[in-house]
Formats: sequence, structure tokens, C-alpha cells
Amino acid sequence: MIRSLLIVPVLVALGACSQEEQRPNVILISIDSLRADHVGCYGYERPTTPNLDRFAAEGVRFNEHISSSSWTLPAHASLFTSVPDSVHGCVESDGVALSPQFTTLAERFKSGGYSTAGFYAGPYLHGAFGLGQGFDEYRYVAEDAAEFSAAEVKRWGLDPRAHARTHKGVTNPQVHEAASAWLAKQDGPFFLFLHFWDVHYDFTPPAPWDTRFNPGYSGPVTGENFFFDRSIRPDMPAADRQQLLALYDGEVGWTDSFLGHLRGRLEELGLDDNTVLAITSDHGTEFFDHGGKGHRTTLYEELIRVPFVLWYPTSLEAAVVDVQTRSIDVGPTLLELADLAPASDSSAFSLLDLARGGALEFDNLAISELYSVGNRLRSVRDGRAKVLLDENQPEAPLRWYDLSLDPSEQRARRDFEEGAGQMAHQSFLKAQAQLLEAVSARPGAPTSASLPPSVLEALRANGYLGSGDGD
Ligand SMILES: [Zn+2]
Repeated sequence: MIRSLLIVPVLVALGACSQEEQRPNVILISIDSLRADHVGCYGYERPTTPNLDRFAAEGVRFNEHISSSSWTLPAHASLFTSVPDSVHGCVESDGVALSPQFTTLAERFKSGGYSTAGFYAGPYLHGAFGLGQGFDEYRYVAEDAAEFSAAEVKRWGLDPRAHARTHKGVTNPQVHEAASAWLAKQDGPFFLFLHFWDVHYDFTPPAPWDTRFNPGYSGPVTGENFFFDRSIRPDMPAADRQQLLALYDGEVGWTDSFLGHLRGRLEELGLDDNTVLAITSDHGTEFFDHGGKGHRTTLYEELIRVPFVLWYPTSLEAAVVDVQTRSIDVGPTLLELADLAPASDSSAFSLLDLARGGALEFDNLAISELYSVGNRLRSVRDGRAKVLLDENQPEAPLRWYDLSLDPSEQRARRDFEEGAGQMAHQSFLKAQAQLLEAVSARPGAPTSASLPPSVLEALRANGYLGSGDGD
């Protein structure tokens, strides 16, 4: 009896030790253009995402997760660097690339002894934009990827011919095959980034997903050429709009099935016990919610509110986090799970305490930006309200939405003098001050952070800028 009592503490100590040494593998998955409100575990009525729902039921679901932008390049640059768009500066596609001065998530994992790989299927993830920093292997897996040179990538912009080449067809199987093969070769801790592109328009899912959610439809909508087809517009027949949504949902379901395949592959390789999965999106997409279509157009909820599910049953109990979180916080969270320090130039915080039921102990104001194709928009969301700065409207650049009363942002308000409007304005000013500070701390970065004189004046009046600041 005495002997066994002595042995037990030794075994416990050994167990704890080996647990510490076995650092988790980390897989970060970005499902392009997946809006949160079309995901089952976020309340959608259609069964679009049974596999993601299962990961969410076993893991942590972040209910109000906000992206840094409404299109692919800046959103991924923020996901990888944990700084807002105006800080990393990748806000437009022509001639822009992420500066090597930023430490990416892949670089942090690599310097921490992890093998790193990224497999992506959409054009704006291309290495020519600097997003491959830190990956041992970083590969565009679309079938015709080899046809694109880096110089061509830089000229893509919104060229309809380039769109036609990169937005058609299906690419999920290629992403999955690349991941499956790479996973089988790993014998130490790894960081894997996967970018699924099929949910992004065009909306042409393969059978049975093409008819799954609207089987009786016989009209003209095919889901092809979504962005440039002028018949796809706000006053299109309701039945045709419904078919567009059904095709989008079909793409979501088809992509979700690969989360199931990935789970199977992890189990097959014996990796499921020690692998963290982080599943999210870069932005949503609009179906005339505010009169437009696609994304890279506004910063309303359908474009910046995305899913984020963190799955690591070995260490994290199932939970739902209702506090607002941000895409820039994903990186520090994953690094903490791997016992690695975040990059020193990060503007973000680990969400692990929140995931484990802790209280919010950092400033979680979400800044989203769109300085592209003529837009000059910035939003600040504090969980209750969203303030929008539109620099293209110099007469009245600021408006706000009360998200608790008006979650679909149909009633723009400009009453900033008292009550909720005043609180929203304070959040906005605080976020602007944080942003200016973050930008000025990285003078070498390409940046587009700008503020109209009226906002600078308000910052000064509220004590955010020194009184001697004349420029
Ligand atoms: Zn995207």
C-alpha cells in the first residue's frame, strides 16, 4: 500500500512532463467568403455545415467574430500578422505586398521549431503578395495555378478575364489532397494553413450540392459569372435570388464536407488527439442585404462577421464565447496553445482565457477597413454599436448603427451627442487613437491610415492627441 502511494505521484509527474513536451500541431483553416449567418451552429436554418457544427459542439465557438476587412488580401494579411489593415498596408492589390518587417504567424511557428505549410486556392493568397512568409512550403493548388506568373498576379486587379480564370471550377479536392499528403509526412509538430476557395463566387457547386437546397428550380440562374452578370441585381426575381442563395449554400455544404474528410484523415494518421483546429473565414459576401452583391464593397455585418471555431478537445472544453472577438486575435490564441510568444508587433490578444470561461481583460474594439477600388471606409465595432467612417462623404463622414436594436444595419444614425451614440463615438475615437499609435510605431510599413481633419480634431478635443500636434 505504501509502495503504490509512492509510485502514483511519480507517474503523475512523468505524465505531466511528457504532456508538456508534446506540443500540439495546429491547423488554421480559412473558408473564403463564409458569412457567419449561413453556418448551422451560428443559427442558420439550412443544414449547411454538419461537420463544422460538430467541431463547434466539441470545441469553442466564438459567436461574434469580426474580420479586419471585407476582402481576401487584407483580411489574410491581418490574420497572419495580427495587426489592422492600415498597419500592414496590404489594402489594395496592385503593386502591394506584405512587408518582410512583419512577423507572420507561420514565421513564429517556424522559429518555434514547427514544420510549416500553406495550401491555398484563391488568387489573392499568392506568394507575390508576401503572404508566404514563414512557410516551408506555400503552394497555389488550383489546377491552372502554374499558368500565373508573379508579375501577372500583380496586375489582376478586377480584370474580368482574370476573374473568369480564377473564380470558376472546384478546388476543394486539390486543397484536401495537398493537405493529406503533407500531413502523412510529418513526424514533429506542424503548423498547416489551408485556404478553401469554393464558397467564394462563382457559385457552381458539384452534384449533389447544386440542387441540394432548391431542388425544384428551373429558372435561368446558374451561379456563373456572379460578379459581372448584370442580370444578377437587386430587382431580380425573388425566385432567382433564392436560387443564388441555394447555390451559395450548396458551396458551403460542399466545402463543409471536406472538414469531415480532414477529420477522417487526422484520425487515420493518429493526429486527432494532438492537433488544434482553428476554422474561420476572411469575410462574408452580400446578396443585396444593402443593395449590392459580393464583397470588397462595404463593411456591414454580412461582410465582416465570420465564424471562428477552435477545436482542441485535449485541452479545451466545449464552450460558446459571446464577447466580441477579432480575426487579429486568432494568431496569439494559436501561439499560446503551442506555448509560443506572440510577435512583438502584434496589436491583438490571445482568446484562451475567454475560451476557458474567463472574463474579458483586454480592449476588444474591432477595426475593419476597406481602402480599395475607390472605397475609403473604416468601421469600429464595440459589440453594441458600429461606427462607420466614410471618407468619400466629407460633409458627414460618420454614422452609427445600434446593433442591439438594428442588427441588420438598416437605420443609419448621426446622433453622437448623448446616450448610446455618445458611447459609440467614444469607442470610435479610442480605436482611431490606437490605430494611429500602431501605424506610427511602424514607420517603414506601407500604410494607408488616414483620417479626415474632422476626426483628428475630435481626437484632439478628447485628449487622444498631444495639444502640440500640428500635422
Ligand atoms: Zn476572400
